[in-house]
Amino acid sequence: MTKIGVYPGSFDPVTKGHLDIINKALLVVDHLIVAIACDTTKTPLFTAEERKEMIEFEINHTLGRNKAVEVKVFEGLLVNFVNSCGSSVIIRGLRAVSDFEYEFQMSCMNTKLQPNIQTIFLPASEKTHFISSKLIKQVARLNGDIKDFTSEFVLDKLKSKLKNQ
Ligand code: ADP
Repeated sequence: MTKIGVYPGSFDPVTKGHLDIINKALLVVDHLIVAIACDTTKTPLFTAEERKEMIEFEINHTLGRNKAVEVKVFEGLLVNFVNSCGSSVIIRGLRAVSDFEYEFQMSCMNTKLQPNIQTIFLPASEKTHFISSKLIKQVARLNGDIKDFTSEFVLDKLKSKLKNQ
């Protein structure tokens, strides 16, 4: 049986930290759905379609056209989306102890809402643990160098988005 995992997030924009978690997730699931959340409390810089395009680019180019990964945009409750994908596994990345409290609460809530669904936490890598979409947007706004944290494709999208703001 194919084990399907769902990796939800804002991905605004996708970073090398997210790609690290995608690679690690493929060690525990056969098929991974990267799920872009529409209903979030954060106000995204990029539209859901733009975020999808960037993740798909990374999958095709950086991860070498990995057929085991697909990208979807979802609205509403995550657990309903996970069910609709035929999955019972949510993948989340942990960067620091500070991530843990919120992530733990969220995983408990999701399991309460859908007892068949469990969250697997994957640890961030030493080289990417400090990367966050929020931080790279802040650095990019101030013209800092972010090429180590995301791809050139995303970097160009970020520059033109910030220029047109
Ligand atoms: P959210 O708005 O749901 O936190 P993000 O796009 O910020 O969405 O992150 C999606 C997931 O990826 C979260 O589980 C987050 O902890 C994880 N993540 C983000 N950046 C990194 C990183 N550098 N290393 C490991 N995991 C990360």
